[in-house]
Amino acid sequence: MIESVNPDLHDALHTLGLRVTEPRLAVFEAVQSHPHADTETILDATRAALPSVSHQAVYDGLRTLAEAGLVRRIQPAGSLARYEVRVGDNHHHLVCQVCGRVEDIDCVVGEAPCLTPNDDHGFVVQQAEVTFWGTCADCAPDADRAADAGRTATDDRTTSAD
Ligand SMILES: [Zn+2]
Ligand SMILES: [Zn+2]
Repeated sequence: MIESVNPDLHDALHTLGLRVTEPRLAVFEAVQSHPHADTETILDATRAALPSVSHQAVYDGLRTLAEAGLVRRIQPAGSLARYEVRVGDNHHHLVCQVCGRVEDIDCVVGEAPCLTPNDDHGFVVQQAEVTFWGTCADCAPDADRAADAGRTATDDRTTSAD
């Protein structure tokens, strides 16, 4: 049943010489419908679609799909590994430092690696990965309040020093 939903994936697995298994298809669908989700979320989504699947089959499926290049694994500093099916375009990510929300940023320069180091030390550079850290719109009001609180505390210290 899942096979008919995603004939492209079926073909892609075949082309790569990988067996087309229900867990692999279900894992891919879970990643596709939950962009930038962590492993736990993918696990839940896969099990919702395919209740009989084991944890190990989901982990194996994620690893196989990532190694095959059908799924991209990203891991912003201090964050859990996250997965997406948007592969091959070397796009970057915007990460909210408050809630961990992740958004795609199209590369604004061009083809991968799309950024050129001023000294490549003889490396052949294939990829550049940029993470823009910030505060998302939902979290920004909280950040403003925190900044206000910080200013108040500084004022208090100044007052007591006098
Ligand atoms: Zn946020
Ligand atoms: Zn992305």
